[in-house]
Amino acid sequence: MAGGADAARLGPGERAAALAALAGTEYQVLVVGGGVVGAGVALDAAARGLSVGLVEARDFASGTSSRSSKLIHGGLRYLEQRNFGLVREALTERALLLERIAPHLVRPVSFLFPLTHHGWERAYIGAGVSLYDLLGRSLGQVRGLPGHRQLSRRGALRLAPALKRSAFTGAIRYWDAQVDDARYVINLVRTAAGYGARAVSRTEVTGFLREGERVTGVRAVDLETGAGLEIRAQQVVNATGVWTDEIQAMVGGRGVINVRASKGVHLVVPRDRIHSSTGIVVRTPASVLFVVPWGRHWIVGTTDTDWSLDKAHPAATRADIDYVLGQVNRVLAVALTRDDVAGVYAGLRPLLSGESDLTSKLSREHTVAHPVPGLVMIAGGKYTTYRLMARDAVDAVAHGLDGRVPPSCTDAVPLAGAAGYPALWNARYRLARSSGLHVARIEHLLRRYGSMTGEILDLVASEPGLGRPLAAADDYLRAEIVYAASHEGARHLDDVLSRRTHISIETWDRGLSAATETAGLLAGPLGWNSCHVDREIGYYRARIDAERASQDAEDDQAADAIRLEAPDIVPVVGQAGPPGGAGGREASAPQAMPSAGGLGGREASPPQASADMAPG
Ligand SMILES: Cc1cc2nc3c(=O)[nH]c(=O)nc-3n(C[C@H](O)[C@H](O)[C@H](O)COP(=O)(O)OP(=O)(O)OC[C@H]3O[C@@H](n4cnc5c(N)ncnc54)[C@H](O)[C@@H]3O)c2cc1C
Repeated sequence: MAGGADAARLGPGERAAALAALAGTEYQVLVVGGGVVGAGVALDAAARGLSVGLVEARDFASGTSSRSSKLIHGGLRYLEQRNFGLVREALTERALLLERIAPHLVRPVSFLFPLTHHGWERAYIGAGVSLYDLLGRSLGQVRGLPGHRQLSRRGALRLAPALKRSAFTGAIRYWDAQVDDARYVINLVRTAAGYGARAVSRTEVTGFLREGERVTGVRAVDLETGAGLEIRAQQVVNATGVWTDEIQAMVGGRGVINVRASKGVHLVVPRDRIHSSTGIVVRTPASVLFVVPWGRHWIVGTTDTDWSLDKAHPAATRADIDYVLGQVNRVLAVALTRDDVAGVYAGLRPLLSGESDLTSKLSREHTVAHPVPGLVMIAGGKYTTYRLMARDAVDAVAHGLDGRVPPSCTDAVPLAGAAGYPALWNARYRLARSSGLHVARIEHLLRRYGSMTGEILDLVASEPGLGRPLAAADDYLRAEIVYAASHEGARHLDDVLSRRTHISIETWDRGLSAATETAGLLAGPLGWNSCHVDREIGYYRARIDAERASQDAEDDQAADAIRLEAPDIVPVVGQAGPPGGAGGREASAPQAMPSAGGLGGREASPPQASADMAPG
């Protein structure tokens, strides 16, 4: 990275070294939570020269930060709520991410806003979008983001022939940006690690170390081995999103931040089901619904309903899916049906509550709190403004540290893969010729790895078989799977099928036919034997079966119960066994566990789907 650190490699060896370092050193800052906010805090603090640790209980980005609408936006509807400051702030971030921080991962996307009334609506929406464009230029004109355009019905149909003629009178086309949310987080973590942060996934914080009232670190469990560890830190930052209450309970006393979870469900449908060259926004009774281009697919969503059940696996119901289909079908000439849906995912918004009973009206702004000395809590906000949240959290940390801490500089820190990206993009035909890969494949790699694409090409050069696409998910090269484990912190099959790639939502069978080849490729870098490979596949299959069944359930309670029948391959401490079994979700007792076989006595029953599975 020009002017910065190199992107760190996050393989199994690096994880072991990071765990050893975390247990043996006092850090200035320890971040709890490896979503976009926690990873952002780690980078902000490391780039200020502080010593930083980061612990994530599951996989990086496995919470809300891989389940968003994947938009980097100001939020047109916040203009309607007259929240101009919030919109301007978010649009300034959009410009920074597009131009400087992550041009390889964030890119422009256009939306068509169909109008349903003549006259006043065009003027009203047009004024809003003009203001949106204006607020978006606080850093000057952004490449690839032209101003909005007013379109007649005929003009709109030319761009989006899929629209139903009778459903609209004309349209406005405007521009925003989109991101691969899960990959962005792993790039953030790698960038932070490049600046010296020690980051580990599958390590759950189970309690705090205290000196009187002061927090002096955390107790944690390496969930892969069951080993307990204590990590000392001058300041702990809690960035656990919808899990904030659980962390507050560990501190004791009344929580200072009130976070409420609101479920949002998205559907993934193949590109050919909606004939359009632009994204579409549809007004809904409560909010808006986006149709976002996503490679060979569209992402359609979302819903907005209260959720108080399992936070790690929010489940979509039949009603959620029907709602999304019903809303999008209002504007489509050929209605989508459930048969058109290739993938479904659900996420939980961490909303700061207290303003209204309607979650769609709650504030998207963030809060930083300092409930006891040594602990900073950060919550709320949205993906787009993660960098500002991180900056504010580290500013609060700085008050509690001895000595002067420099101001945040992340507005000038490109993420791993960003430096030199435009020039590499221009050189893509040459790269295609020299690597023997098709230029479309090189473009795909550049958009996922930026200037680290060379590391994938090196893998292919050393083992040409890795240059072949996966048989059952041919958007991805076999080399990308190996790289996910050796460089990107992936530890399980699900990490790769759901977050390093998106095979789990982009294929009709949700990644099941790609599972065997993928697990086989992971076996090398992760040191798995054939029993372990089978075990990974069995757990993944059980997850997909449970998810599919839950999507036929009528309500949240039923869907949640069905989804939880598939245990996690690495259950967190508070989720020791399958529902109904001893322990259950409420179990506490953060004990150090024996390391035999990885999970000791806590291992959840293996799923029935894999009768031939042996203990891993
Ligand atoms: C449906 C939906 C659509 C959205 N769309 C957009 C959008 O288009 N644009 C936008 O800007 N924003 C969007 N958002 C909001 C955005 O996604 C979130 O604000 C953001 O991802 C929250 O990040 P986070 O890091 O706070 O939380 P998370 O990503 O949930 O991270 C918290 C992490 O803490 C970990 N953790 C919890 N407990 C512990 C523990 N004890 N020990 C260690 N780790 C722990 C969790 O495993 C988790 O990984 C959307 C949200 C949803 C739900």
